Amino acid sequence: AVTLHDVAFSYGDLPVVDGVSLDVEEGEFLGLVGPNGSGKSTLLTLMLGLQRPDSGDVQLFGEPAHEFSDGERIAYVAQDVTNTARDMPITVREVVRMGRYPRNLFGRFSDVDHAVVDGALDRVGITDLANRRVGSLSGGQRQRVFVARALAAEADLLALDEPTVALDSESRASFYDLLGELNAQGMTIVLVEHDIGVVTDRASRIACLNKRLYFHGAADDFADSDALAAAYGTNQRVLD
Ligand code: ATP
Ligand code: MG
Repeated sequence: AVTLHDVAFSYGDLPVVDGVSLDVEEGEFLGLVGPNGSGKSTLLTLMLGLQRPDSGDVQLFGEPAHEFSDGERIAYVAQDVTNTARDMPITVREVVRMGRYPRNLFGRFSDVDHAVVDGALDRVGITDLANRRVGSLSGGQRQRVFVARALAAEADLLALDEPTVALDSESRASFYDLLGELNAQGMTIVLVEHDIGVVTDRASRIACLNKRLYFHGAADDFADSDALAAAYGTNQRVLD
C-alpha cells in the first residue's frame, strides 16, 4: 500500500526524518513507535502524501504519494484533530458524514451512505451523541467522532496518529479490538502509538523510529531486539 525509499525530511534546519525506507503491505497492521519528537507524525504525513520529502521516494498504492488522487482509499485521523474540532459548530453526524464525501462529490447521499454512517456511529459507540455539536463533547468523545468519520470512509488504508490518548482504559481496549477486527476484514492499518505494549500485541509489524529507522520487522522480533533501547536512548542523549 505504501513504499518509502530513502526518505529524508527537515523542517527548515531541523532534520526530522533521515534515510527511512520501509513498506506497508496491503492488509498489514503496522505499528509506528518512537519517543516524543522522533518524527512519527511527520513520517505519517509523508506516507500519505500530505507533505513531500526533501529527498527519496514515497509511493502510495503505486502512485507518487504527493500526486495521489484516490482520496476515498485513505482515511487519516490526525494527532491534533480533537483540538482542531473544538470550535466546530456542526454535529457529530455531520462530521461522520464527511467521511463519505470523497465518494459523493457529484451525487446525492444514498441509503447505503446513510447506513454506513449509522454503522460507523454505532461501532465506536456514539449513536446517542449523533445530534450533539462536536464542540460540546469531551476530548475522548470527540476522538471517537473522528474515528467514526474514518470508518465511514470505508478506506483501504486507515492511518491513525495516537488515536486513543483521550480515551479511558476500557474504551482504549475496545477501540484496539475494533482496529483488530477491521484489519482482519482486510483494512490496512498504520497506527502511531506511544504505548509500545499495545502495539506489539496488535500490530503484525513494527517500525521504530527516531529520525532514522531503528527497527522494521515482525512484532515478535521487536521485543527481543535492542532497537527500543537504542531509539529511546539516542533521544535521551539529544535531550540531555
Ligand atoms: P510526538 O510523540 O510528540 O507526537 P512525533 O514523533 O510525532 O512526536 P513529530 O511531530 O513528527 O514527532 O515532530 C518531529 C520534530 O519535528 C520535532 O522536533 C518537532 O518539534 C518538529 N516539528 C514538528 N512539526 C513541525 C512544524 N510544523 N514546524 C517545525 N517543526 C516541527
Ligand atoms: Mg506525533
